[in-house]
Amino acid sequence: MIRKLYPQGKKKAFSITYDDGVTQDIRFVELLNKYGLKGTFNLNSELMKNGFEWTHETGLVIKRLKPEVVVDLYQGHEVASHTLTHPYMKDLTEDEILYQMAQDKKNLEELFQREICGFAVPFDYYSDLIAACVKKCGFSYGRMSDERYSYVPPEEDFYWAAGVFHIMPKFTEFVEGFFETEEELALCQIVGHSYDLDTENMWEKMEEILQRVAEDEDVISMTHIELVRYLKAMRSAVITENGIENHSDVELWFEEDGRIFSVKPMK
Ligand SMILES: [Zn+2]
Repeated sequence: MIRKLYPQGKKKAFSITYDDGVTQDIRFVELLNKYGLKGTFNLNSELMKNGFEWTHETGLVIKRLKPEVVVDLYQGHEVASHTLTHPYMKDLTEDEILYQMAQDKKNLEELFQREICGFAVPFDYYSDLIAACVKKCGFSYGRMSDERYSYVPPEEDFYWAAGVFHIMPKFTEFVEGFFETEEELALCQIVGHSYDLDTENMWEKMEEILQRVAEDEDVISMTHIELVRYLKAMRSAVITENGIENHSDVELWFEEDGRIFSVKPMK
């Protein structure tokens, strides 16, 4: 039996995708860096420029990070688009949706001087029209706000539901289960905002999880775009009695009878 693995021969992947680019990301990125992990951060370029802030129901004022600090901060992590101004997408025309995506992508690319490949929808509304616009703007994936409560990675890059929202009651159980599961290509993807760590008082709990991920030899930390690219490549692999054909441009990893090996691209 051939078992599919993640890069470097790892059995499982851990991914964290946080929205809005708020000031608590500074503390959170420090934690990721401390444990050598990578995150994905979904930003609204217009709100960042305007210094947008709002008051959470707990009284905490949530502030956006300034453009001057984000480039250094997110180095080594993925930056993705979360629209220009965080609108409720159901109320927008197709042209307005395209503008919210394309202009945000352009602004972020100019600021970060790198290609922005991912999109995460603001709020919880997603539709076929939004998915079509995500593709049209040249993104490689569209993340919805739905949760899957599953370790099986999504197969639809443009209807991508993350594993678990970190303030939901099932969060602890989901993460605990991840370290135990034997699922092939098991994925734990956590979605949320770093300000939730303040309002829910869960910084310590999150650090414990990150430390555990870093110490677990079966787990690799991946950004969302790294996951999408790797899983897409894995889906195109052809496994036959005579061997494995790797039709992608990514090195793919497998295990057979306890032996871990990789298959390089055919071309
Ligand atoms: Zn958001």
